[in-house]
Amino acid sequence: MSSISENIQNIRREIDEAARLTGRTGADITLVAATKMNESDRVREAVAAGIDACGENRVQELLEKYEDGAYTGAPLHFIGTLQTNKVKYLVGKVSLIQSVNSEKLAAEISKCAIKHGIVQDILVEINIGGEESKSGADIENAHSLVQNIAKLPGVRVRGLMTIPPFSKDEEEQKSFFIKMKQLFIDIGAKKYDNISMEFLSMGMSGDYRNAILCGANMVRVGTGIFGARHY
Ligand SMILES: *Cc1c(COP(=O)(O)O)cnc(C)c1O
Repeated sequence: MSSISENIQNIRREIDEAARLTGRTGADITLVAATKMNESDRVREAVAAGIDACGENRVQELLEKYEDGAYTGAPLHFIGTLQTNKVKYLVGKVSLIQSVNSEKLAAEISKCAIKHGIVQDILVEINIGGEESKSGADIENAHSLVQNIAKLPGVRVRGLMTIPPFSKDEEEQKSFFIKMKQLFIDIGAKKYDNISMEFLSMGMSGDYRNAILCGANMVRVGTGIFGARHY
C-alpha cells in the first residue's frame, strides 16, 4: 500500500474517532485533500484511495492539473486566495469555492456563474482571529456580508470556512473553532434567504481533530496526506 493511501486510512480513522465523540461518525465529515504543490500522479493516488474532494490553492496550478486529469473522480474545491480577475477560470470547473471573503469577489463569481448557466456553491471565509495578515471577513461583519452575498443570483452560500491563527496552545486553538461554530449556528438560526449553513470547513493537518471536536464537518488536510511540501 502506498504511503498516501495509508495516511488517508489513518486520518479517516482519527476523523471517525473525533466525530464519534461528538455524536457523529466519520461519514458526517468531508475530507478535502489539500493538493497544493503535489503533482498529478500523487493527487490521483489520493483520489483513488478515497478522499471526498480535492482542494487547490492557486488558479494556475489548478488549471494545469485539471488539464492533466489529476482530479478526475473527486469533486474539486478552490481553497486559496482568489483575485476577481481569475474567477473566470474557475467557474464551471470547481464544485465549491471555499475562500470567498468579500462581496466584490462574490459578485464576480455570480456574474461568471450566470454566464455559464449555473449557480456556484461557495463558502464565506471568516478571519476568526482578526489577523491583519489573513484574508477573510471580520466576525463583526459576517452577518451583513453573508446576507449581501446571498442576494446575488449566481451564488449559493453553503457554509463558512476559516483558517484560524496558528497556536501551539490547544485551548486557544479550540477557542477559535468554538467561535466559528457559534457563528455558524447563529447565521443558520437566522434562516436568511438563499443561505444554507451546511458546511463548516476548518481544521488542517495539525488541528483537524480539535476542529471536529468543536463542530467542523469539513477538514482540509495536506501534509498529513502527502507529507511535507517541498517549496
Ligand atoms: C495548505 C492548506 C491546507 C492544508 O494544510 P496542511 O497543514 O498541509 O494540512 C488547508 N487549507 C488551506 C486553505 C491551505 O492552503
